[in-house]
Amino acid sequence: MALDDYVWAAGIATDLVNTAPEVWHGEDKLPDLASLAAFADLHSLPVRARPGDPRAVHRLRATVRDLIDHPEQARLIAGASALTSPTGGITLDTSSDRRRWTVSLRPGATVTDTLSLICGIGILGVVQTLGAERFRACGAPTCRGAFIDTTRPGRRRYCMPGLCGNRVNVANHRARQAAAHE
Ligand SMILES: [Zn+2]
Repeated sequence: MALDDYVWAAGIATDLVNTAPEVWHGEDKLPDLASLAAFADLHSLPVRARPGDPRAVHRLRATVRDLIDHPEQARLIAGASALTSPTGGITLDTSSDRRRWTVSLRPGATVTDTLSLICGIGILGVVQTLGAERFRACGAPTCRGAFIDTTRPGRRRYCMPGLCGNRVNVANHRARQAAAHE
């Protein structure tokens, strides 16, 4: 995994925290091995999910959410550094035109280790490049999601833009219609 690919990594961290039951009115979107395997496939993670992983991933998800919810720089750096413990080693990838720092997983790494390393690198990369103010709660009043904003202008407002942004637009539209009929 490329150390400078924080946009990809932070996107996975955001997707992971937004599978939590608190974001879906109690329904966990990663309840079991099958859903975790599908999540790993969707993000092309190189390891298979094993029976102990769902619970371990739930703990990791809570840790990452806690970091996003308390975005002080020193706390983010300390917390994200701890998430990088499954690192196997650092090397240079020369397979594309451009040489990149890459980090590998230690041998025998699990899906939880993989997600932990990705979240750690994503958070550290965003703090380094964009700053601690990029860790935010969803702006939709009814949503309890959170996200890491890796957009260039830094004005992202919703955890799931297609979903939460649309909900807010629909609510605003209804409010305008209601006002027009008064
Ligand atoms: Zn949201």
